[in-house]
Amino acid sequence: TPEIKSNFIYQEIDKDLAEGKNGGKILTRFPPEPNGYLHIGHAKSICLNFGIAKHYDAACNLRFDDTNPVKEDVEYVDSIQEDIKWLGFEWEGEPKYASDYFEQLFEWAIKLIQKGKAYVCELTPEEIATQKGTPILPGKESPFRNRSVEENLDLFQRMRAGEFKDGEKILRAKIDMASPNMHMRDPIMYRIISKPHHRTGDKWCIYPMYDFTHGQSDFIEAITHSICTLEFEVHRPLYNWYLDQILDGEATPEIRPRQIEFARLNLNYTVMSKRKLLELVQKGIVAGWDDPRMPTISGLRRRGYTPASIRMFADKVGVARRENVIDMGLLEYCIREDLNKRAMRVNAVLNPVKLIITNYPEDQVEMMDTINNPEDESMGSREIPFCKELYIEREDFMEDPPKKYFRLGPGREVRLKSGYIVKCEDFKKDDAGNITEIYCTYDPETKSGMPQSNRKVKGTLHWVSARHAIDAEVRLYDRLFMDEEPDGHKEKDFKEFLNPESLNILSGCKVEPFLKESKPLDGFQFQRLGYFCADKESTSEKLVFNKTVGLRDSWAK
Ligand code: ATP
Ligand code: MG
Ligand code: MG
Repeated sequence: TPEIKSNFIYQEIDKDLAEGKNGGKILTRFPPEPNGYLHIGHAKSICLNFGIAKHYDAACNLRFDDTNPVKEDVEYVDSIQEDIKWLGFEWEGEPKYASDYFEQLFEWAIKLIQKGKAYVCELTPEEIATQKGTPILPGKESPFRNRSVEENLDLFQRMRAGEFKDGEKILRAKIDMASPNMHMRDPIMYRIISKPHHRTGDKWCIYPMYDFTHGQSDFIEAITHSICTLEFEVHRPLYNWYLDQILDGEATPEIRPRQIEFARLNLNYTVMSKRKLLELVQKGIVAGWDDPRMPTISGLRRRGYTPASIRMFADKVGVARRENVIDMGLLEYCIREDLNKRAMRVNAVLNPVKLIITNYPEDQVEMMDTINNPEDESMGSREIPFCKELYIEREDFMEDPPKKYFRLGPGREVRLKSGYIVKCEDFKKDDAGNITEIYCTYDPETKSGMPQSNRKVKGTLHWVSARHAIDAEVRLYDRLFMDEEPDGHKEKDFKEFLNPESLNILSGCKVEPFLKESKPLDGFQFQRLGYFCADKESTSEKLVFNKTVGLRDSWAK
């Protein structure tokens, strides 16, 4: 399907190209901080950055924004790469790391100090906060602001050498404590963190801040368009200021990166802050970052989402500068659309009750031809075993059904899909009143291809052969939160809105033998029930399926 590229970022890039900027070159980047797994919001940014690269026949870098060893880890570095590849994108060359630029960034910091544009400050974070002023009140200048260049150079070198404790000293840019933009009021460039880094080990104990890292990293990599979310709009003057400072006195570079902001993806009934997702993982509220209820890429994958469905979602959501909240139903629509086209239709009975066909020969097994996917003839057909004893859903039988109930009840007829029409003659109950067996007779003339095969009956049921079915565990998921905006309440913690019924594990489900061969993450339509996929831990010895989404939009809205 041809994608329509009309969002405002494409227009900005077209303008830059028309003006001959950057020598006609385009290079984008996706810059995750490896402090958590990627989520569906990141997918929007990935589709945008890699999508632009593809559209302009250019490239997109993957750059880890790894400037804070406290929260970062290789586990995240690895998962991020896996998720991007799984989504179907390929970055240019090797992954890049901001930490690879630490030495260059340090040299640029020295350059700023030499220019009188940076100073070592000894205020505590609290003091800095109180002296920062408000958007209408100018801030107070730090008493350390007018240190000599020599003293600043000496102190900064000693910061690097590890002579001071965390928090004792910082390096700040000397800009304007009265600027209406709070980010320009002598922002922090470096802080001391005595913790080993997942890549640079013990080499550094001072780490650059995001603002002092990002634009320069873009510059080093010759990124032309640095696309980020709207909250960075107020950082843009600082992004440009740092670039101006490091380029000062040098020839105009061929490529000058430009920051462009777009509205981040907000999705209802979930949270997307990595801090909150990490909390759910650490407190054991979910089974991990890839729990199928998580809005992470890995969670969606384990839930049965396909890369195409997520790309379709990103396309439908679009890219704009106005914040909005997208309904979870749109994500579900996308996976339903995709699986409707691709997923094989199979039979599974989640809550089985036995159905016995009293007039069917005791030892006979018939192989019934059944179409794999009515939406795609090329997927062909397969044979499913039929015999005297079957399982149907408990919900498909009522002892005393109302008139409009088109399933099975005493004296009523239904069609067994790909099989025969059967009539309920009797049933058996246990002492507690539960139906244990349903007795039917079948009409041999009603099989497909037989004279009575077109005889009309109101209901069609799915079933599995009781003698061939295999046991499976099926996990039904509901939304993780009961509130549309769980983290939108000032006085309440987002965890207060967790849905206690977000996971319902059914064991003793019966699935057709074909599913024994299913591989982790294979997706299927369980007829009449919805879309399901084999869990990542499913094996032919212990089959486990996750419900991806129902057949229809069942969201009460
Ligand atoms: P969090 O706030 O959860 O920590 P983050 O924005 O800090 O997320 P990063 O790893 O820094 O996470 O994000 C990498 C890129 O993905 C950034 O360019 C960021 O703007 C973008 N991004 C993050 N969240 C979203 C979102 N919800 N919608 C669109 N883009 C996003
Ligand atoms: Mg973050
Ligand atoms: Mg970030």
